[in-house]
Amino acid sequence: EKDIIKESAEIIKKSRHTLVLTGAGISTESGIPDYRSKGTGLWEKYDPIQKASLSALMHNPKEFYEFNLPRWSSYIDAKPNIAHKVLALMEEQGLIYGVITQNIDGLHIKAGSKKVWEVHGHLRTCHCMECGRSYPFTELKEQYEKGVNPPRCRKCSGMLRPDVVLFEDPMGKDYYRALEALRGCDLLIVVGSSLQVYPVADMPGYAEKLIIINREPTPWDKKATLVFHSSAGEYFAKLARELNLE
Ligand code: NAD
Ligand code: ZN
Repeated sequence: EKDIIKESAEIIKKSRHTLVLTGAGISTESGIPDYRSKGTGLWEKYDPIQKASLSALMHNPKEFYEFNLPRWSSYIDAKPNIAHKVLALMEEQGLIYGVITQNIDGLHIKAGSKKVWEVHGHLRTCHCMECGRSYPFTELKEQYEKGVNPPRCRKCSGMLRPDVVLFEDPMGKDYYRALEALRGCDLLIVVGSSLQVYPVADMPGYAEKLIIINREPTPWDKKATLVFHSSAGEYFAKLARELNLE
């Protein structure tokens, strides 16, 4: 294990265009449950297509918001953990180019990362599905908490929706920008992702070398130069020491 950290540091120092791809697993140590962990993952209990898809929002908006809004609202108060913080430092020191994240919790930005591609959107804003008007996310949250479900546009009373990528939604701008950033990527560090959600799960194929940090095995483990099957917090605390960060 000591060797995985040492070798990681060596590979990172040698690489010229390193990107990081994160998933829900990087935020479990900030108190946000992931989807697919054995025993605690949310999708072990519910069907994602039913609960967080575009068709669920269209056909059953009340239930969509009852299921998703309290959960999303709780993400807003979460704090970045050591893994998010070390990644921000690594960017500052030029050791990584940026972070591609599947998370909507905004914790990379809160930790100080500057180049972040949020390929599944975020919880800072929402918009009207009729007129397109944009609002801060608090508009959704406050209306819901006052009992207005589904929340409505102040201008045209169309339904509001969050700026997150739901199942059945097309990918957003950040996804295509992330693909551009991946050009010439000689090292991709994957942190806390089961690598089962497409199209993001194809991204490891764009990198020359892979390091995977994940508690459970992933479909890309066989292709990885290094695999660390344990906590992201532990890995980044040790890596920061090895790289003399701070
Ligand atoms: P996932 O739930 O499919 O996989 C998470 C992986 O992380 C699991 O394999 C688990 O073993 C591992 N893991 C959990 N805690 C860990 C830790 N502390 N250290 C190392 N590994 C750990 O998540 P995914 O691959 O991101 O895909 C699911 C989708 O879930 C994404 O589209 C994302 O938008 C959404 N999601 C986001 C959040 C968030 O914003 N924090 C939370 C839940 C789900
Ligand atoms: Zn409107």
